[in-house]
Amino acid sequence: MTTPAQSAPVAVDRLTAVVDLDAVAHNIAILRDRAGGTPVMAVVKADGYGHGAPQIARAALDAGAAEIGVTTVDEALALRAAGITAPILSWLSTRGYRAAIEADVRLGVSSPRQLAGIVADAHAAAVTAVVDVKVDTGLSRNGVAPAEWAATVDALARAVADGAVRLHGVFTHLAHAELPEHPFLDVQRDRLIAAAADLRARGLDPVAVHAANSAATLTRADLRFDLVRPGIAVYGRSPLAGDDCGLRPAMTLAAPVILIKRLAAGDGVSYGHTWIAPRDTVVGLVPAGYADGVVRSLSNRFEVAIGGRRFPAVGRVCMDQFVVDLGPDGGGVSEGDTAVLFGGDRPGEPTAADWGDAVGTIDYEILTGVHGRVVRRYVGAEGPGTSR
Ligand SMILES: *Cc1c(COP(=O)(O)O)cnc(C)c1O
Repeated sequence: MTTPAQSAPVAVDRLTAVVDLDAVAHNIAILRDRAGGTPVMAVVKADGYGHGAPQIARAALDAGAAEIGVTTVDEALALRAAGITAPILSWLSTRGYRAAIEADVRLGVSSPRQLAGIVADAHAAAVTAVVDVKVDTGLSRNGVAPAEWAATVDALARAVADGAVRLHGVFTHLAHAELPEHPFLDVQRDRLIAAAADLRARGLDPVAVHAANSAATLTRADLRFDLVRPGIAVYGRSPLAGDDCGLRPAMTLAAPVILIKRLAAGDGVSYGHTWIAPRDTVVGLVPAGYADGVVRSLSNRFEVAIGGRRFPAVGRVCMDQFVVDLGPDGGGVSEGDTAVLFGGDRPGEPTAADWGDAVGTIDYEILTGVHGRVVRRYVGAEGPGTSR
């Protein structure tokens, strides 16, 4: 690979999510390698986990992903409008089928009622709908419930026979994938295999059996089947504790230090004075707050990297800003210097996982929570460019 091991340092003039599309390409290469030749569907739901769905989809497809996965039909249609022509599967919509069918978007089916709606819209559009039936093998979330499986297979057989529907795949979602040894993975695998056999016994031939999210793609060859569906790993975050799998975080959240001032020992910082300067010190102001995804529960619990050094954020995170303690000597920081809130690709940088650990959530929620006034800048394969 020609991809450098680390991305270049970032410099920003406002709160910016710098998205490195070379990192996405690198991560897709790792996932393709781990998938051992099984096609990769890059999951870009929730606006590409906060990274920008069309940009990530394009970078992933250019790097060899075969398909794109999203939750809603609206997300799928937005990708079509952005010029993405690759296969797209949308697995969590109960509306908008006709537009999806006409835009050649595959639909996940989780119940006979949903299938009936798809069949009606396929007739109205006079176009065959292509579906992947989703089996609930034990996550008890979406997917056809065991009690409705027989009725769903019957309805599918009828819909296929009258030309309203073509069955493309059968799939499921795993409950314990981040624990590769968990015995329930075997239970879900075997239930999925049985579901595929049920379909074949009715003359329905799913060409794509699929189950693996990032964690399963990275660890379980027996769960690859015909297609793998990684999400978080595309963005460079490993779902496996203590193993980064060589992935590179694609997003760096950064902001300039916009104001520097001296405080005397005993001065309080931010609302409620939850931090009091223990000594004379210098603080820097960073224009990012909870309205942008720097969750308030991080108050007094995170650090930023400036010029490769770590500094603690002190006092409450406000809607629009927070304060960093630069130490008595000011840490060599000047107004206009860039503070990295999280990135993780260069030595010394905090990560989205650090934030998750600090506030009792996961990096998935941190990444998808980046919003508000954050501007995105794309670097690498497709960049430079700014959106929003
Ligand atoms: C979100 C999602 C994925 C991707 O999961 P990751 O853990 O991010 O890899 C795959 N399949 C389905 C059905 C999903 O909802």
